[in-house]
Amino acid sequence: MRGDRFYCLRPCFCLYSGTSIFSFLSFAICLLPFTLSASTLSQQFDAQRAFSHVQKQVEFGPRPSGSTQLQQTREYLITQLRSYGLDVHEQPFEDQTARGPIRFVNIIATLPRSFFSSVFNQKPHTILIASHYDTKWIPNIRFVGANDSASSTGVLLEIARLIAKPQFQPSHSHIEFVLFDGEEATHNYQLSENNGPQDGLHGSRYYVKQAKQKAKDNTLSEIQAIILMDMIGDRDLSIQVPSGDSNLMKRLFDASTVLGLRDFFHYSPQPIIDDHVPFVLERVPTIDLIDFDYGPHNRWWHTEEDTLDKINPQSLKVVGQTVLKILEEF
Ligand SMILES: [Zn+2]
Repeated sequence: MRGDRFYCLRPCFCLYSGTSIFSFLSFAICLLPFTLSASTLSQQFDAQRAFSHVQKQVEFGPRPSGSTQLQQTREYLITQLRSYGLDVHEQPFEDQTARGPIRFVNIIATLPRSFFSSVFNQKPHTILIASHYDTKWIPNIRFVGANDSASSTGVLLEIARLIAKPQFQPSHSHIEFVLFDGEEATHNYQLSENNGPQDGLHGSRYYVKQAKQKAKDNTLSEIQAIILMDMIGDRDLSIQVPSGDSNLMKRLFDASTVLGLRDFFHYSPQPIIDDHVPFVLERVPTIDLIDFDYGPHNRWWHTEEDTLDKINPQSLKVVGQTVLKILEEF
């Protein structure tokens, strides 16, 4: 239990109310529910809520970048994030693809600035929680991407709902939720030695480029970590984590052990191309939670068999709880 890493506003107001015994008791009473609630953050994850977000995205149909269906999905996601009290903005841009120029839109949601940060003018590090929300453009089949990428997007929403609650907001780091557009390649990921892939990872590459331009020192040094999720809803869940930041890997294995979920997470020596790559190239600590073994011999990946019936709410919960546990420890 690391509830001391979190705070709520109520104890602060109690502190200002004086030095009498009454004030002390008020402070203690205020602190009690805070400690209890903060300690159970990961237990608050609602698997059915996350699953309903997956279902809703699938109902929009295939959602390739630039499509009307992805725009409808985006409106839904933004409405949800705003309903949690988060500040949400769109990051639009145009990029060349094998299908011609496409207008992509990343979604970025942040917590309102914390009370402590405002008062003491702290500059906390930022932890990014990320997923992509587009589906691969595959002509002639109905590819709805229940697992790739509605599952991780649904889990991100549920994590955001909980982190947005005042009693759960971390005091030491700023949390930013990012939904990348254009993760999927039109054909295959094209690697370029200097700039990373030129087909696919459009949203994450653009995000990194913009963040570097915005930073005073042209680096991403303010980003403490990025936790990326992708394909995490498989009913036969086995997260194979490609080599990531050693500290984050330890945090992942420690958190899952505490929750009794350690058996779902494995180290994989196989590198994987995903939205963490542009951050790795800038030396940002990253971890990619992905189950890249979907169906017999990965047969359901990028096929019309990637449907809602393959998704287990309990798998969403395993990943959601573990990410929340990691955040509790930052
Ligand atoms: Zn994919």
